[in-house]
Parts: sequence; C-alpha cells; structure tokens
Amino acid sequence: MAKKQGFFLCTGCGIGEALDAAALTKVAAKEYKVPTCKEHSYLCSAEGVELIKAAVEEKDMDGIIIAGCSNRVNADVFKFPGVLVDRVNLREQCIWVHEADDEDTQMLAEDQIRMSCEKIKAGVAPEPFVGENLSKTVLVVGGGLAGMTAALEAAKAGYPAVLVEKEAALGGWLNSVYKTTPMASPFTTPEDPNLAGRIAEIEANANIKVYTGAVIEKIAGGPGMFDAEINQGGSVVAERVGAIVLATGSKPNIAKLDYLGYGKYANVITHADFEAMAKAGNIGAKKVAFIQCAGSRDAERLAYCSAACCIETLKQTIILKELAPEAQAYVFYKDIRSSGQYEHFYKAGQDTGAVFIKGDIKEIKEVGGKLAIESEDILLGGNAW
Ligand code: SF4
Ligand code: SF4
Repeated sequence: MAKKQGFFLCTGCGIGEALDAAALTKVAAKEYKVPTCKEHSYLCSAEGVELIKAAVEEKDMDGIIIAGCSNRVNADVFKFPGVLVDRVNLREQCIWVHEADDEDTQMLAEDQIRMSCEKIKAGVAPEPFVGENLSKTVLVVGGGLAGMTAALEAAKAGYPAVLVEKEAALGGWLNSVYKTTPMASPFTTPEDPNLAGRIAEIEANANIKVYTGAVIEKIAGGPGMFDAEINQGGSVVAERVGAIVLATGSKPNIAKLDYLGYGKYANVITHADFEAMAKAGNIGAKKVAFIQCAGSRDAERLAYCSAACCIETLKQTIILKELAPEAQAYVFYKDIRSSGQYEHFYKAGQDTGAVFIKGDIKEIKEVGGKLAIESEDILLGGNAW
C-alpha cells in the first residue's frame, strides 16, 4: 500500500482546454486527500519530469498518479525507481474520443482519477526480479526432423543447444520416411530426407550437445534459468538452459477410422504405412486411393484441418508414379489445402495423372478380395466408384 502519494496533472495536448483541470485536481486533493497535487502544461518535458522528481524526493513518495496521456507513450520518461506509478489516460481515452468541454467527458475523466486514487492506495511498487546464472542454451527435446532442425538453427544463430533423444540414434520419424515434402523452391519434387547428412552436421557442430537414449527426468525454474535433469542410461546429468523446444513428435491418429475400413481391411493403410512400404521398395498395388480428411474436418471426429495431409498425399502420388509407374492414384478430397508455395506441389501431383474426386466417402467395402469405394462426386455430379 502506497503511503505517501502524489498527483500530477498534465494540461498539455489539449487536456487543459477540453477539461476543467481545477476540478480534476480537486478530486485527488479533496476527495482522496492526496497530500501533493500539481499541474503542468507539458509534463513530459524535462521541466515537467523534474517537477515530479523533486516532489517525489522531497516528500519521499512511494506512489504517484500521472494524469495525462496513455501509459503506452512516455513510459520511459515517467520512470521513478521504487515508486508505484499509475497513469490516467485523459488524452486518448477521454478528450480524443469524447466531446470537449462537456459534462459527461468531465465526469469520465474524474471517475478515471477516482479509480487511480483507489488503485494507488492499494498498490505497492513491484520488486524487480533479478535472475542469476541466466543461460542462453536452448534445450531441444526430441531428435527427429523438427528437433534436429531446431538445434541446428539455434546453434547457427549462436546459441548453444542441448538435444535429447529417447532412442539410441537421432532421426525419429525421419528414419522411416522415404522422402519428405519439398522445403525449397521450386516446391515440386519430394526430397531425400538426408538423415545421415543432418546427423553429421549436428555431430560436427561444437555448439550442440547430444544425449541419445536419454529422457528428461525433471524440469524446474523459469525462462532463462530452467534446470533440466536428463537421465541417460541411468545416470542423471543436470543442464541449465534458457529456453526449451518440445519436438517430441507425433503419432498417426487412427481413432474412429473404422468407418473407412481401417483395422477391418488389411489394405486400408495410413500415410505412415505407405511411407514404410515405399522405403522398403514394396508397393505392389495397381490402384491406390488416397482418402483425404480421414477423420478430420468432421464434427464427430476431429473438427479441424491438420494442414499436413494434403501435401503428404500429393507427395505420395508422386512417389507412387516413381516407384510403380503403371499404378493409378485416386485422391478423394473435400478441398486440397496446399497453401502458399505448395500450390506448385499440387500441380506436380496432378501432373502424375492422379484422378482427383471431390466429395465425401459413402462406403468402403471389399468385393471379390478388392476394395471398392463409393464416394460423392461433387464436380461431375452423382457418385464415383
Ligand atoms: S504527451 Fe502526455 S505528458 Fe506530454 S504534454 Fe501530452 S499529455 Fe502531457
Ligand atoms: S483439407 Fe487436407 S490437410 Fe486439411 S485435414 Fe483435409 S486432407 Fe488434411
């Protein structure tokens, strides 16, 4: 609670012309008994700031009200260490948005001063927190593509990185990826994951410390001063880090996909399964249907768009053409969401000869050992099989 208070009213920026300054000061001085109340026509000038400073020092004030402009301006000017400062925004919130010299505008300004007087009576100047042994190291949890990229980019920007991976080797999901979606211009060709190259780059970077076969045991502290305990094969190592990137990967969401025959028919597989087959060079199907928004954008399942599977499908239509040129791809979609530069990738997917059918899936069944799909066909009308 501020015990010695002061009130400083600025009449500059048109405040003195639009409001009754004496009546405003009276609110603080008479109603709230603030012992020191002063007015100035240019409070943010060197002279105005000196007036406040001198009064604060003379009366040993611990809480002051500055009634003038928004606290979003002049924050650096009205800074008095150890003193609680509350700003009353008479300029932007009163006279700039309400009629000048008007009873209601005056009432609004007086009420704002009343609120500030209450606030200053109840408040205390905050004690600044001084952190010790602050760290600029970035802890990255997860050594897959995202984690490796985060560690490398942090190191390149001059910040030491600590990379923790629970498996015995880095790579994560990238270990089973045949190709990634393009990450550079012209955004038309799937890329080699270059896992060995990425790992070699990390190992050669003295600014990155890698713990494999390790898990995070505990994290305590706060930004700039997190204390992490890393358990690597039973021995615990402590690292002080400033920031933490969680890149712990993802799993295909296969819940509630039985309506598409997943789990019922062996040949209904996920993108991840397709990728493993491609990596093993084992794509035998002659016709491959890609069902978009499987469980997504559906109020009964996942209401949102993952923003990832469209470009993953486009990539796999291109991979299919590469590994099984005689095979035909069909893409059943609601919309193709391949935003930004990935529009070029969409075109590359279309150029494989894949057939794109817009509509909701009606049924998937097995007929004579083969899968049959019935879908709406919004663009051509009727149903597609
Ligand atoms: S900018 Fe603020 S403090 Fe400076 S004269 Fe205008 S209202 Fe007063
Ligand atoms: S629109 Fe494309 S990216 Fe979005 S959920 Fe459907 S398939 Fe996935």
